[in-house]
This record gives sequence, C-alpha cells and structure tokens, in this order.
Amino acid sequence: MNMNIKELALRELQSIIESWGYKKFAAAQIFSWVYKKGIEDFNAMSNLPVPLREKLKERFYLSDAVVAEKLVSRDGTQKILFRLKDGNYIESALIPAEGRVTGCVSSQVGCKYACAFCASGLSGFKRDLSCGEIIDEVFLLKKNSPEQKLTHLVFMGTGEPLDNYDNVLKAIRIINSPEAFHIGARRITISTSGLIPEIKRLSGEGLQIELSVSLHAADDSVRTKIMPVNKKYSLKDLRAACRDYINKTNRQITFEYILIKGVNADLRDAEKLCTLIRGLNAKVNLILSNKVPECGFEPPDKKTTAAFKNTLADGGIQVTVRASRGEDIQAACGQLRLRHEQK
Ligand code: SF4
Repeated sequence: MNMNIKELALRELQSIIESWGYKKFAAAQIFSWVYKKGIEDFNAMSNLPVPLREKLKERFYLSDAVVAEKLVSRDGTQKILFRLKDGNYIESALIPAEGRVTGCVSSQVGCKYACAFCASGLSGFKRDLSCGEIIDEVFLLKKNSPEQKLTHLVFMGTGEPLDNYDNVLKAIRIINSPEAFHIGARRITISTSGLIPEIKRLSGEGLQIELSVSLHAADDSVRTKIMPVNKKYSLKDLRAACRDYINKTNRQITFEYILIKGVNADLRDAEKLCTLIRGLNAKVNLILSNKVPECGFEPPDKKTTAAFKNTLADGGIQVTVRASRGEDIQAACGQLRLRHEQK
C-alpha cells in the first residue's frame, strides 16, 4: 500500500531515494516541489528523472485531506472542515490579524479529555492524526490563507497535542525545517490541557516552540468539574511541572483561562489565580467563553471581565484578553465537525 509522502522527514526520504539508486539530493528536490511549490502531482516534478517519478507514484501519494466545508467570518476568520482519507472529519481555523495569519491546527479526531466547555470533547475520541495528516492540514490551511501566507501555527484545534506526542513533534520538526514550510519554532504553539509527563518530555526536546497550558481554574474542585484531566494531574503538580519547564527551557509559558460566567470568573477566582502563578515566568491569556449551546456556558459581562483582568494586573501578573474571533461562524473548537457529524 502506498503512503503519504508527508509522513517522511527529509533524511527518511533521502535514505529511500538512495536505496533506489538515486542521489540523495533528489529528496531535497522532492521536498521543494511538495512544500515550496505546492505541487500535487508527481508528474509535474520536471527536474526528476521519469523512472524516479514512476517509483514515487508506486510508493507514495501526495495529498490526503480535502476541504469538505469552509465558513468565512465577517472578521476574515475561516473555519475549514477537512475530510480525511478514511472518511473522518477534522476542523481547523485560519485567523488573519495585522501582519500575521495564524493556523489553528487539530491533532486528533475527537478528544479523550472531555473539557466541559469544549465541543470537541463531546463526541469522544476516535484516533490520532498521523504526522502526514497534520502536515496535510497545514498544507491546506496555507493554500486557503490570504496570499497563501501562513505565519503562525497553534495546536489548539481538536485534540490534545501532547496525547499524540510523537506525530505532533515529528510534524512540527518537518514544518519548521528550511526544506519544508520553514515556519519558525517560536511561531508555533502547542497548547495542552496539562499532561505532566509530556510537559517534562517536551522540556528536553531543544525546540524553541511556545507552550500554552490550559488552566481555566485556579482551584482543584472547579478545575476538576470543567477539566476532568485535573483528577489525574492536580494544580499543585501542574504548577511544579510548569516551573520545571520554565527553568529548563528558559522560556515563558502562557496560561490560557476561559472566563465562564458563574463558574470561574469572579474576583475570588482572580485572586486564587494570582496566588497560583505568582513567581512563575508566565503570562495569562484570558478568553471569553464562546456560547456553546451543547455546554450551556456563556461569557461574563464586560465589567466582570475588566475586574478580573485588573485583579491579575494589580497582582503583578502579565495579562491580556484575547479578542474573540469568528463568532458568527462558530469558531470554538469542534463545533463545525460536531454539527457535520450530527447531520
Ligand atoms: S479543550 Fe482541548 S483537551 Fe479539552 S476536550 Fe477540547 S480539545 Fe480536548
């Protein structure tokens, strides 16, 4: 059975090409056709010998996912639903902002972690995405972005990226490489619900990527209610893992905090959050909860949001409120896929 060529790092393709009796620089030429020129047909690789193109066709295919549905928001945000080779769906988003276009990438079909505010967790976990499928997703995001520009990537779509550690890390290394998309590591963010062993492992990878930890509560009982992963990894242990990560990598962490009215958004919650993260090289990104009809959550009003933010800032915590994007097209993760699967 042939395989997606995007499963392979350059050195892996080089050794296959050499085993076929060709010079290894042909692998760099193939990478250039695939990643720089976006070619989707081996026949178009005109600087390769015809027999090599035939070999490649026998052994590999070039494209896996197709765009099944695309929604474009008034603010330019795009929500894209991809159909995978096996008929499963994943969704991704393209978020243009001043001078940058960010792709929000899924790493799994569904998710095991069942966070209460997230539509992705509602339909359960199906499977991991392979490295090639993740790269196909990025490839199609790039193709669909304004002027085919994609400057930043955030692994914040469906799935827990650190639960699909090897495939996500391999895809990031390929995406980051000069022979492929060459998106700088500092422009790639992994967002985790807080898997402690994998945070530890990530700290030893020597990658300059950004790490974002979904906190969403500063109290174990509240966090366990909205993020069941907290039963396994408590806030105390998670804080220690983040501290170790910061010390080892010398990099700042971002804590994501979705403000949900009546759940985690009052001033006592803000004070607890200050106490929890004070002393860490970290910043807090406050996000207003999207209205997710399946979950019954809604954001607090502007006054409550401002008071929460000011409490953190007064406590010496670096804090921003992330602007909500694509609300008119339901850009919260998992909503498009969920709607599609319920049809
Ligand atoms: S927020 Fe992330 S970890 Fe939680 S259920 Fe959704 S996709 Fe999974």
